[in-house]
Amino acid sequence: MVISPSVLYGAVEKRRNTGEARDMVEHNGKPIAALVLLSGGLDSRLAAILLKAQGVQVTGITFETPFFSADRGREAAAQLNVPLIVEDYTETLLGIIEHPRHGFGSCINPCIDCHTAMLRYAGQRMEREGFHLVATGEVLNQRPMSQTRRNLAVVASESGYKDWILRPLSAKLLPETEPERRGWVDRGRLLDLNGRSRKPQTRLAEEYGITDYPKAAGGCRLTEPNYAARLRDLRAHKQLRDLHAIQLLRVGRQFRLNSAVKVVIGRDAADNGAIEALAQPEDVLFRFESIPGPSALVTGKPSEADLHLAATLCARYSDAMPGQEVDVSIRSASGAGHLRVTRADEMEVERLRIK
Ligand code: SF4
Repeated sequence: MVISPSVLYGAVEKRRNTGEARDMVEHNGKPIAALVLLSGGLDSRLAAILLKAQGVQVTGITFETPFFSADRGREAAAQLNVPLIVEDYTETLLGIIEHPRHGFGSCINPCIDCHTAMLRYAGQRMEREGFHLVATGEVLNQRPMSQTRRNLAVVASESGYKDWILRPLSAKLLPETEPERRGWVDRGRLLDLNGRSRKPQTRLAEEYGITDYPKAAGGCRLTEPNYAARLRDLRAHKQLRDLHAIQLLRVGRQFRLNSAVKVVIGRDAADNGAIEALAQPEDVLFRFESIPGPSALVTGKPSEADLHLAATLCARYSDAMPGQEVDVSIRSASGAGHLRVTRADEMEVERLRIK
């Protein structure tokens, strides 16, 4: 790290003491305004702080999909006292998952294409709304796939806004950007962080008095192995555009009976509640009334044989003993009834489980 955090801190203090206007950098009589990708992690918060410390006006932009929420971005914007734009990014990301140009990371995370698209969105907004630059909290070589020197260059270039994307935490190790060339941002007051260590960021956070931030990376379900297996199954069956199916992916145990029919079985009271809440009129809902057992949902267009098989799977997770007959009550748009079944054996359960 080249710049002393106390210098940065001093800059913030000075701004507090003297008011924003005196420290502001201007272009054509307008303050320099940055659109900062604010995921809500510590790095993006620090990137915003480094720019604010130079008098740059910061607006955050964050993205929302069924795979990650914008809540961390909202918290960060509130903490930094900056306005926030929240973009629904679902359709774009689903298109990327269907055809990821740069492939997936270790799970079903198409990080390079995903990040490229986020930068493209931000770049387009920059042009439309008169921002002067886009900034991110990326740190060179912090992540093996998306933050190598090569891939930082790829995402910036493929976004279409290569010269306008500033990474304040590693800027001194990266090619100069147009806002730096034009003197809108002082490169000398940016940083040269490199690698996986989090210590410099933690130290900076302490110096800025930021104690409340997510301590672990994450928040994107596409990087979770179990979730990825479920989403891969939907992708293989061309059901990625089925938002109800995607909402169900985070709930319960999941089984695929055939290309159209899936079963979701609650693991606990919270899952059972979620299943009941998420059930759509076209779904079939199972419950146990005579013995303790889970709630379950069958989606697709199940045949009678499918429903029977699904009920045996549910019975496996009830208090029924092997070989014991139990009644599973059924509710669907076409009416209510019950099925009498015995529990499925373990081989059958494992054969049908999505994993
Ligand atoms: S971790 Fe998730 S949100 Fe982040 S770039 Fe990768 S796919 Fe996109």
